[in-house]
Parts: sequence; C-alpha cells; structure tokens
Amino acid sequence: MAGIALVTGASRGIGRAVAKRLAADGYRVWVNYGRGKAEAESLCAEIESAGGSAIAVGFNVADGEAVRDALEPLIEAEGAPDVVVSNAGITRDGLFAMTSEEEWSSVIDTNLGGFYHVTKACLRGMLRRRSGRIIAISSVSGQAGNAGQVNYSASKAGLIGACKALAKEIASRKITVNVVAPGFIETDMVKDLPKEELAKAVPLGRFGTADEIAAAVSFLASEQAGYITGQVLGVNGGMYI
Ligand code: NAP
Repeated sequence: MAGIALVTGASRGIGRAVAKRLAADGYRVWVNYGRGKAEAESLCAEIESAGGSAIAVGFNVADGEAVRDALEPLIEAEGAPDVVVSNAGITRDGLFAMTSEEEWSSVIDTNLGGFYHVTKACLRGMLRRRSGRIIAISSVSGQAGNAGQVNYSASKAGLIGACKALAKEIASRKITVNVVAPGFIETDMVKDLPKEELAKAVPLGRFGTADEIAAAVSFLASEQAGYITGQVLGVNGGMYI
C-alpha cells in the first residue's frame, strides 16, 4: 500500500475522481464529505469492490472543531495521512457590490479556512514522519481573477499564497506543497453555466474532466514529483497561460 490519502469534498465531482484515482494508485483513501454521506459511502464501496481501501469521513471543512473531532481519532488509530488533498470548495457568485458578508465569509471560510483546518490537523504527524504531499485545488479564478467571483477568486488566490509559503516552511521536512488550478471542469459546480459559449474562450475548445484533474493530483502525489514544491499546475485547456 502506498499509504493514506485524505481527500476533502470527495463525495462528488473532482474530489470523487481524485479519491478513485488515488485508491487505484494504491492509497487507502479517507473520503471526506460534507452533506453527501450516501455518495461518499457508495464511493467507498466502489473502491473496495475494485480491491482498494477507503473509509467515509464526514465533516464540514469550515468548522475547525468538527475537523479536529473527526480527524484526531483517525490519525490516532491509523497515523497521519501521507497525502492531503484540499479540494472541498463552494461558490457564491455575484457582483462584489451586491455580495453580502455571509456570501463573502462562507466562501473564504470553506475554501481557504478548510485548507487551514484540515492541513493543520494532519501536519504534526506528517512533520514527525518527515514525508508527505499537500495538494490544494485552487482555480484559474485565483490566478487571473474572475468578474462576479471576487469572493471565490480571493479564496483561491489565498490558497496559492498559503501553499507557496507553507512549501518554504516545511521543505526541510521533505513535505511538498503544491496547487492544481483547474479551468472549467464538468461537474455540478458548472452545470448551470452556458457551456458551449464558455468553451469558445478555452484554447483547447472544451471543458475538462474531473479525471484530468485527478491525473495531475496523482502525479504531484507520486514519488516522481519529489522535487516539485510550491508550484501551481494549471489544468485549464490553455485558458490561462
Ligand atoms: P462540486 O461538484 O460542487 O463538489 C464540491 C464538493 O465539495 C462536494 O463533494 C461537497 O461535498 C464538498 N464540499 C463543499 N463544501 C464542503 C464543506 N463545507 N465541507 C466538506 N465538503 C464540502 O465541485 P467540483 O467542481 O468538484 O469542485 C471541487 C474543487 O475544485 C472546488 O474547490 C472548486 O472550487 C474547484 N474548482 C472547480 C472547477 C470546475 O470547473 N468544476 C474549476 C476550478 C476549481 P458534499 O456534497 O458532501 O457537501
């Protein structure tokens, strides 16, 4: 077994594909979900029936106490994860002038606060072990900024800054910290967007798939990526270069 991989927001979309891919790579996967207990449990059953190993772990990434209550006993029982993928994320889109404090805070607390709570809960064990991979799922919106997504762009740019700084802090412990920044990926998050119209702005002319993000995560988690840290890997069809 390659070790343990924790994937947040793995009940659906990109996180689900990442969890499946890391399970296929040989990791025991801790499949985090927020509301989608049934989806997370069905994913674990799918992984197990394919010969892998997985457990569903429910917590709201934005709630530090809930994160610690869920992860501390698991870490105590199984050890800290070898790979932590901070994927859970939400959007609350709208023009900045109309953005409520709740729309601002919920996006920052989930997308950026979630990274803080989850990484912090796992880090001590990883530091002690002197190995590991931390991977955050940001967005092209965090690299380029997107009108109508000031809150989301701030949270995703914040992840990039946090990962670059953390990469420098913990490189001496042989833990790498990298970011995958997707463009438009076919999941529930973009199901209401005008796909054909938006695909025209993508040089490769299409939306990406969750499996294409999972492949990038799999690479960054692998031994071969051991000399890569503090980097942002855009998987965006050329939308932002
Ligand atoms: P999605 O289909 O909407 O799925 C979001 C996932 O995050 C779900 O599994 C959801 O879990 C989980 N989640 C949300 N809030 C949570 C919370 N507070 N605690 C725990 N889990 C929570 O979205 P997606 O497209 O797969 O996006 C995954 C990540 O990629 C996000 O960070 C997103 O910002 C980023 N991204 C997506 C795109 C895109 O085009 N799709 C582009 C760039 C970046 P439950 O359903 O169980 O609550």
